[in-house]
Amino acid sequence: MTTIGILGGGQLGRMLALAGYPLGFHFRFLDPVADDAPVDTLAERVRGDYTDAAALDRFVAGVDVVTYEFENVPVATARQLAARVPVYPPPQALEAAQDRLVEKTFFRDHGIPTPPFIAVDSRTDLDAAVAQIGLPAVLKTRRMGYDGKGQALVRVAEDVAPAWDALGDVPLILEGFVTFDREVSILAARSVTGETAYYPLVQNRHREGILRRSVAPAPVTTPELQALAQSYAARVLDALDYIGVLAIELFQVGETLIANEMAPRVHNSGHWTIEGAETSQFAQHLRAITGLPLGSTAARGHVAMLNLIGILPDPAAVLAVPGAHLHLYDKAPRPGRKVGHITLRADDPAIFDDQLATLRALLR
Ligand code: AMP
Repeated sequence: MTTIGILGGGQLGRMLALAGYPLGFHFRFLDPVADDAPVDTLAERVRGDYTDAAALDRFVAGVDVVTYEFENVPVATARQLAARVPVYPPPQALEAAQDRLVEKTFFRDHGIPTPPFIAVDSRTDLDAAVAQIGLPAVLKTRRMGYDGKGQALVRVAEDVAPAWDALGDVPLILEGFVTFDREVSILAARSVTGETAYYPLVQNRHREGILRRSVAPAPVTTPELQALAQSYAARVLDALDYIGVLAIELFQVGETLIANEMAPRVHNSGHWTIEGAETSQFAQHLRAITGLPLGSTAARGHVAMLNLIGILPDPAAVLAVPGAHLHLYDKAPRPGRKVGHITLRADDPAIFDDQLATLRALLR
């Protein structure tokens, strides 16, 4: 019996456990939240801080391998645990992804295009960065940013002062604004055996910095674009001795790709794989970290994933749409909070378009 310890107890952990039980795995989670966590109905959770030595001892006792579903786990915690059990993805992947400056420098050093970027630690730095990069630009906190939090669009010179006032008390990065044709992501996996696998590119639509909808495989994608995305992902996997599922979010401009950020974990833009691919990203991640053979990444027809943000639709109305699948995370709805998602899958593109329109109308 293999017990997998997971740092973080949110919906990604919940979906990892749901994918892992059929494979015979057991799970234990660590998450500090006082309220109920999405994993609580599924497995034991140690309720403790990521830096609490006693909580970490309880969490790791009897666990065979540790992974994480939350990318802001302190790197020091991952390293301490790695001295006792295998921790995958390796702590250096966490380290590379937690700080936007380190992350973008890492991409650049490995020949992966990024928007122009400059570290900003003072108002003087910001003025110099704006002069160098030009406007529009995006000011972002280097750490703890997700779902568009901790960032400000600087369209014109008058936006500089308010952006600084809103964010200026922590280390920042200024990035050039990319006028992209669309946003896509690549999900890749590498196993402890060295085997790799890549999913078809996913097309993503964000609003207010939060992922709203993914379509997979991304429509009108050339084999060259898929190969380019895979080559970037392969460089990251190699450079970090990566094990597990990795996601890279990219801006597509013409037939070029510009890296925005990476996530060293299963990713929201991979939820479509649960019903929409031969092997879900969650099962793939567990296979990768336990040395099982990786599964096929082939899509099953046309797939869309719609996030449920702050609202819970009537389950009966969703499930009345042929090809629709509902996933609820056991979270109370609050504005801006991801509480579930819907996956739509269809073989026929015309039927897919109709059903997608029906679902989108339901969520309006
Ligand atoms: P992030 O938190 O960095 O993933 O940003 C959230 C979303 O904001 C992205 O998915 C984009 O839609 C938008 N965004 C972030 N950075 C840029 C940029 N440099 N240029 C254009 N749009 C951006």
